[in-house]
Amino acid sequence: MVHFVGAGPGAEDLITLRGARYIETADAIIYAGSLVNPALLSRAKSGCEIFNSAEMTLEEVIAVMTAPQRAGAEIVRLHTGDSSIYGAVREQMELLDAAGVAYDVCPGVSSFCGAAASLRSEYTLPGISQTVILTRMEGRTPVPEAEEISSLAAHGATMVIFLSTGMLGELSRRLILGGYTENTPAAIVYKATWPDEKILRTTVGEMAEAARAAGIAKTALVTVGEFLGGIYDRSKLYDPVFTTEFRRGAE
Ligand code: SAH
Repeated sequence: MVHFVGAGPGAEDLITLRGARYIETADAIIYAGSLVNPALLSRAKSGCEIFNSAEMTLEEVIAVMTAPQRAGAEIVRLHTGDSSIYGAVREQMELLDAAGVAYDVCPGVSSFCGAAASLRSEYTLPGISQTVILTRMEGRTPVPEAEEISSLAAHGATMVIFLSTGMLGELSRRLILGGYTENTPAAIVYKATWPDEKILRTTVGEMAEAARAAGIAKTALVTVGEFLGGIYDRSKLYDPVFTTEFRRGAE
């Protein structure tokens, strides 16, 4: 059985209990060495085989999972954050389906959640934004034209931009083209929840320079929007005069 496990954003105690148990009982672990905290591997039992997928092709990963000598073995495929976000898991699942190998998925804490925690921020504030857009700039992987940054920016919603720290000048230009202003708050979170985490609170207009000055060029998320500002409405749910299914509000 193959378990796709979300390793969490970085800190080794931000994996789920289930994910940690899968690691502890695994006969083989294939981990995304570029971003998964290697400290998680110290939970593996002795004799567990360890493979670093950063140095492997899709076919090599699948060959490890489907090797006849591992039939019946417990195999963990450890992905950074949650595997549903830029995890390249679908293609693995389809090859496992074709090979008749069973698998399941254990969710993880995505880095965008880790970043919100590090920022001590709430992405969805009443009166500010009720939508979070998770996206990226195109790199060697293209992005569909309809999802180009400036068209997503037109919503003025909270945006979390993955995989784009090397292109902040262009990102900033497109965000402004789409409707944010130079002064819209932005925060760059480098290695959220890792011991060497860095947070840069900046603006859409200045974020490229801020990252350059701090020497941040990868492993970061860019968060954008007025959720980082000081103004918002209080929630209805906890408003003393608001009646809910569970509570009668004061007149
Ligand atoms: N599946 C992962 C994302 C993988 S894509 C998740 O759910 O988080 C890799 C990108 O994620 C990186 O380029 C970076 O933009 C972001 N990322 C991953 N871990 C991060 C962390 N701890 N802090 C900031 N950004 C991170």
